[in-house]
Amino acid sequence: MAEIIDGKGFAAHLRAAIAAEVADLPYKPGLAVVLVGDDPASKVYVANKARQTVEVGMASFEHRLAADTTQEHVLALVRALNEDPKVHGILVQLPLPKPLNADAIIAAISPEKDVDGLTVVNAGRLAVGLPGLVPCTPLGCLLLLENKLPDMTGLNAVVIGRSNLVGKPIAQLLLQKNCTVTMAHSRTRDLPALCRTADILIAAVGRPETVKGDWIKPGAAVIDVGINRVPAEGGKTTLLGDVAYREAAEVAGLITPVPGGVGPMTIACLLRNTLTAAKRLQETK
Ligand code: NAP
Repeated sequence: MAEIIDGKGFAAHLRAAIAAEVADLPYKPGLAVVLVGDDPASKVYVANKARQTVEVGMASFEHRLAADTTQEHVLALVRALNEDPKVHGILVQLPLPKPLNADAIIAAISPEKDVDGLTVVNAGRLAVGLPGLVPCTPLGCLLLLENKLPDMTGLNAVVIGRSNLVGKPIAQLLLQKNCTVTMAHSRTRDLPALCRTADILIAAVGRPETVKGDWIKPGAAVIDVGINRVPAEGGKTTLLGDVAYREAAEVAGLITPVPGGVGPMTIACLLRNTLTAAKRLQETK
């Protein structure tokens, strides 16, 4: 049976370490979150982010805008936040309602305050190995892995998924750790056979229970990024990962559960990125 990686507990330790560091600063790091429209899942995420930001001693600035807010208005807000010295991190909650152009809005965020790591500048810095701000979920995956596997040199890593938000940055981070990285996607041939070569398997597919137990190399570390809401009994919904957890846990050496694995690390890493951004901005003042 695999050892379960406790992302919830790890995230709590990380938040405590961030809070201790924030308490020692002569200023208060600030995180601004922009929420446009009233997507129910986004509202819950933003409320959780704001609560945890305040809990670690940072300032939280919430900007809730109506769904019919114009592109110009959102861009003007982002530019104002770029200039605001109380704001060290800016996050625009995605997805944005139509017809807003998310790429143009993300591009307007100052790379120094881009705590989601989504600007082209930060993606480029990651690709060439320069210090920047790394997307939160991939950073969370890496911290969980590093804690259990301090030396990943030479390990075969397979990343299923090639999104800019998850798959590509995770692959870059694992490459920096000297893994031999293969990226898989919907056009990959014989995905089960490829997965069986993986010492580290990252599933960021967005399809419930895609990875089966017999796709996993015995003893491998399996990181399940997926968050899939699927209908359950009584008209309720349940959360499933991208890995068939029970059968996978019988073969893997390490595995993250869903929920309680990667999920809690995302907000913790957002706070970590905000602290990193604040310290760098302060140093260059
Ligand atoms: P995405 O943009 O939809 O990307 C999904 C990737 O999976 C694509 O590269 C796609 O390939 C690939 N794929 C789809 N079906 C496949 C199949 N049958 N076989 C192999 N590859 C397949 O999703 P994402 O934003 O990266 O998110 C991935 C998952 O992580 C989702 O479940 C999402 O909810 C979750 N997530 C969790 C967190 C968190 O905080 N834990 C944060 C972000 C995302 P193509 O490129 O060929 O289409």
